[in-house]
Amino acid sequence: MATTAAPELVSVNPATLEPVGSVRRTDPEELPGIVAASRAAQERWWALGPAARAKVLREAARIVRTRADEIADTIVAETAKPRTEAIANELYTAVDHAAWLAKQAPRVLADERVRFSQLHLKTKKAWLLYEPLGVVAAITPWNIPFGIPFAEVASAVAAGNGVVLKPSELTPLTGEWVPRILEESGVPVGLVQVVHGEAEIGAALVADPGISKVFFTGSVSVGRRVAASAGARGCPVVLELGGKDPMLVFADADLDRAVDGALFASFLNAGQACVSAERIYVERSVYEDFTQRLTERSRQLKLGDEVGPLISERQRDNVEQIVNVHRPDREGWFLEPTVVRGPLPDREIFGPVVSVEPFDSEDEAVHRANDSEFGLAASVWSRDRAKADRVARRIEAGMVWVNDFGYSFTTGQAAWGGVKSSGFGRTSSKHGLYECVQVKYLDWDRGRLRPAWWFPYDVETEHALRAALDVLYGTGLERWRAAWRSRRELRQLLRRSR
Ligand code: NAD
Repeated sequence: MATTAAPELVSVNPATLEPVGSVRRTDPEELPGIVAASRAAQERWWALGPAARAKVLREAARIVRTRADEIADTIVAETAKPRTEAIANELYTAVDHAAWLAKQAPRVLADERVRFSQLHLKTKKAWLLYEPLGVVAAITPWNIPFGIPFAEVASAVAAGNGVVLKPSELTPLTGEWVPRILEESGVPVGLVQVVHGEAEIGAALVADPGISKVFFTGSVSVGRRVAASAGARGCPVVLELGGKDPMLVFADADLDRAVDGALFASFLNAGQACVSAERIYVERSVYEDFTQRLTERSRQLKLGDEVGPLISERQRDNVEQIVNVHRPDREGWFLEPTVVRGPLPDREIFGPVVSVEPFDSEDEAVHRANDSEFGLAASVWSRDRAKADRVARRIEAGMVWVNDFGYSFTTGQAAWGGVKSSGFGRTSSKHGLYECVQVKYLDWDRGRLRPAWWFPYDVETEHALRAALDVLYGTGLERWRAAWRSRRELRQLLRRSR
């Protein structure tokens, strides 16, 4: 937990409760200068062109690998998560995104030719251009304190933007790695700025008129506040918010794999993953077997080595307010992994707790999965491919995995984001890149033909345009009949165009 004594923000290890280090809180009054510095670097960065940007991102992927151990040290020091998780969820995410962006951003964001099959627009040459937004804000949480900010900042930078990053106040030192890596890779100094602090600096960043878009990852309540504040000044947002993700286990699933998957999906990161499985629905014939095995396995997980602590005392209190969980007798904000039979409230727990309930039919399973205000992700476990596919398509969520869980988070090409209260907009994939640009439509015309619909207006033109509507858009014979019937008007239209 960070202390609030200004001006130092002290980062604390949640297992030992020892301070890890500190950073200086950013004064909101410094923001205009910070945004302006990023903007100045952004213009140079955009002018370099896509190939030079791709080279820098390739280098970033290499530097994250070279400095992987140091980065993992900081992540583990600030979160006390198992080192395996720091590597698998954070370093893989960073390297994969940088490598994917280096390869694909130039292609996805290349000028795109627009073609016209419409006869009256045949003289046109047009393109869609994908231009940077300017300076964007990335406001990020503590649960994946390197993977999330790195992937978001890298995407924005790949599209030619400057970024002001506000990492969580609980993991500021990990956040510092993002500009450090990118500057070592060759982005202009100042392009990626970091500001530190709690809600006050976050809110000031959202309100800053120099910020062209806000990429927010965090809780539903703060996300809505951010969207309202940004909306008040007409600034777009992407919201990656919380979830209450369901896992549907059918009787024909590979039960060993489903139990292993459930254990990982529920207790990874001590349940502090936005896509943690928080509700498991199991077909009744295997419910007892599945639940007993999951409960037994959850008791064998090693606290500290396999299941880290909650990030803060406040986070542990939040979990305990929703459900009664055993506190182990040790230092740090630990809670025992817990499997609960029966329903829990439709609130994100964000801790090592999962509920398991039986279902009797495919329809009931889908209905229960969708019976939530959230819609981030879900997983379906079955050997019947047609059924799994049918069920997955009916689930209201941004991501659905069949016989697996969560892996696509680490990849550059898979879209990430939710529906319903879990947010809107996407990160990762070409859709994540499109979120980082504005689309400009650009056209070229030699100017030889004069459009018939320009001034002056007269009755002949009106009739001719009316007749051309059927000729241009009619289908089959209809169009030829219209052309014959209106030949006089069409001749008139052609005359006007010369
Ligand atoms: P949070 O909403 O408390 O904080 C997120 C960030 O917003 C932090 O940097 C915080 O300092 C900042 N902030 C707080 N108040 C602000 C304000 N008024 N204006 C601007 N910024 C403000 O969330 P958290 O506790 O850090 O993270 C946990 C939440 O994040 C969970 O709900 C989890 O599901 C969600 N999450 C979602 C995704 C996803 O991809 N959808 C990924 C990870 C985490």
